Amino acid sequence: MPEKKKSRLILFRRTVQGGMLLLLGQWSFYGVFRCPFAVPFINCQGCPVITCWGRITSLFWGFWLSLPIIGLLFGRAFCGWGCPGGLIAQLSAKVAPFKLTGHTFNRLAPYGKYLALLTVLVLWLVLNNPRWAIPIRIGEFMNSIHLTFEHANTAWLIRSLTVLAFLAAGLIFSNLWCRIACPTGGLLELFRRPALFSFYTTEQCNNCNACQGACDMGTRPAESNCTNCGDCQSACPRNAIQFGRPKPKNKNRTTQK
Ligand code: SF4
Ligand code: SF4
Ligand code: SF4
Repeated sequence: MPEKKKSRLILFRRTVQGGMLLLLGQWSFYGVFRCPFAVPFINCQGCPVITCWGRITSLFWGFWLSLPIIGLLFGRAFCGWGCPGGLIAQLSAKVAPFKLTGHTFNRLAPYGKYLALLTVLVLWLVLNNPRWAIPIRIGEFMNSIHLTFEHANTAWLIRSLTVLAFLAAGLIFSNLWCRIACPTGGLLELFRRPALFSFYTTEQCNNCNACQGACDMGTRPAESNCTNCGDCQSACPRNAIQFGRPKPKNKNRTTQK
């Protein structure tokens, strides 16, 4: 891919991510730092933290209903192009010295996310999404975060500190949270294979793995954890990465699913 085309794709993606950060950013950060429920982002309409964007805009159903549609069309593209948490993980990955690209790691990584997804479903549907913190309505943003941490119960602290620990570990091991722990990523990973459109490798591929080296997720096009970001396309020396409807009999798609 010519340099100019590559920079245009990256600029376009960063612009989309910036727009999504404006739309979903506050909601995302409240979910990690201030949401009193065991599972953030799904009880917004019944939430007593009246200043949260999720409650004010009733954003959550629009968001959750759009995810399967995006997933069926473009697999995990929300991760690569839209998620504010993904943007932070991707920027952290730029400084992370380790990538964890082993075949076994890549094969097993999605199961961590499936486990996280199952845990979330049990907390939501079986345990009725309990409230684990006192909802804090007052004070400045940072002050209310401080108060939430001060008054939350142990379960909430474990949940929130686990998320923060994974994000911090992403500064050392590229994209750890998105690769092995995010329940939303687990949900989207289920749509990756049946997705209609994706980046994929063609018959020109000679398995040199240059694309994997260029990928923040440590994977290859259309394989486990691929977010359809397109960053790898310019790294391929054989121009063997295309975007579109993958050919059903493309042998190169089967190496690391
Ligand atoms: S894996 Fe989770 S946090 Fe990462 S980009 Fe996808 S939805 Fe966002
Ligand atoms: S394999 Fe390519 S398209 Fe897929 S996540 Fe990695 S860089 Fe992005
Ligand atoms: S798609 Fe290109 S960079 Fe990736 S393994 Fe095949 S030839 Fe190498």
